[in-house]
Amino acid sequence: DIRVRFAPSPTGYLHIGGARTALFNYYFARKYGGKFILRIEDTDRERLKEDSVQQILSSMKWLGIDWDEGPIYQSDRLDLYRKEANRLVEEGKAYYCFCTQEEMEKDREEQRKRREPFRYSGRCLNLSKEEIEKNLREGKPYVIRIKTSKEGTTEIEDLIRGKVSFDNSQMDDYIILKSNGMPTYNFACVVDDHHMGITHVIRGEEHLSNTPKQVLMYKALGYDIPQFAHISMILAPDRSKLSKRHGATSVEEFREKGYLKEALVNYLTLLGWSPGDETEIFSMEDTISKFSLDRINKTAAIYDIDKLTWMNGVYLRKLDLDYITQEAIPYLIDKGLIKKEEVEEKYEYIKRVVDAVREKVKLLPEIADASEYFFKDIEEYDPKGVKKRFKKEGVVDLLEKGKIALANAPSFDVETVEKVYRDLIAELGIKGGDIIHPTRLAISGRTVGPGLFDIISILGKETVIERMDKAID
Ligand code: GLU
Repeated sequence: DIRVRFAPSPTGYLHIGGARTALFNYYFARKYGGKFILRIEDTDRERLKEDSVQQILSSMKWLGIDWDEGPIYQSDRLDLYRKEANRLVEEGKAYYCFCTQEEMEKDREEQRKRREPFRYSGRCLNLSKEEIEKNLREGKPYVIRIKTSKEGTTEIEDLIRGKVSFDNSQMDDYIILKSNGMPTYNFACVVDDHHMGITHVIRGEEHLSNTPKQVLMYKALGYDIPQFAHISMILAPDRSKLSKRHGATSVEEFREKGYLKEALVNYLTLLGWSPGDETEIFSMEDTISKFSLDRINKTAAIYDIDKLTWMNGVYLRKLDLDYITQEAIPYLIDKGLIKKEEVEEKYEYIKRVVDAVREKVKLLPEIADASEYFFKDIEEYDPKGVKKRFKKEGVVDLLEKGKIALANAPSFDVETVEKVYRDLIAELGIKGGDIIHPTRLAISGRTVGPGLFDIISILGKETVIERMDKAID
């Protein structure tokens, strides 16, 4: 049975790279009827950030990535790591190290001089039983290190990258249990992946270099080695590492900026995977039905905010109107266009407005910006529009005629008001734009927006006549 996990460290918000890793694990589990486990890797106490777990969980929930087991906290499993570390020591596969900070600093300095990468010197590798017991009795601080072989190579068969081999001469007797009793990542990760029955480790490429250390650990602990799948990095447009200076990078930021989760999920999925054809717009269900690891790209994905924003616009138009309306309402409230307690009563009106304005916007807050005049009187006409439209000869007369025609309209649905205007245009022998543009400016204050007849119909007769009167003045 397939079991996968997502194992974030609670050191901040859930970033898009992490979200994508979580998604791919989730898709894989769902596609093959497996289990998706959420594990919180919180043993590096110095890097922990308060509220981070809550943030990560809430981002995952928002995206719709639900897990079957967990969250399981590594900090609740310290006994297990201690037990396994002790077992390794007893079996001669790991050893106590009492090196002081000064000794370590000295080693580091020497290796630096020799231009070698840092590696533990092995000073404590061969301590006698008596020395160890004496040190322990004296209460000397210690760490436990894994004994590594520096011979040969370690090979892994990565499900995405194929065969990857590592030269063991670079291997270090790395720490598995720190002096504060906390396990290190490479140790706890292996102990947990084994005890949680993980069959496939799907994670970011930045962990590929940890994999040989972990493979060695699996072997030392006598565990079966799972399958690995390392997903390529997400890079900034200039191919540098994605960071804060490239704009929003956390799921939470995208949510606050008014992106829809459907668009973000779709975009992140496409950033590293493709359904095998040219399709770009697909839902989570679509992805699950087609998901396979061999369609994950081997090359780095380039993050492109414009594409995500474009995609968001596609989803704003494509998704159910009631849903988009619900999503837009908080932004309307925020902007002071409606009050919370009016929402129910004005719902049908709001919905029509959202339907009209969503055609031309890309983000949720833009819905609020684009719908201001549906909820408020016009405070100022677009100055450029005034120059171009209102200052033209005969405009007042045209607006007056338009107003009268609308005042006499038998009803105010889109088709009727359009017919009224088209008839008038034909009768006067003018170009449509001659009256449509000034009317738009008169009733919306703007030069661009949804179709004029949609605006007229939504605003209703009373408001339209009132605004035209005011513009004619
Ligand atoms: N805690 C690690 C991280 O957040 C997990 C790596 C792994 O999946 O093994 O990067």
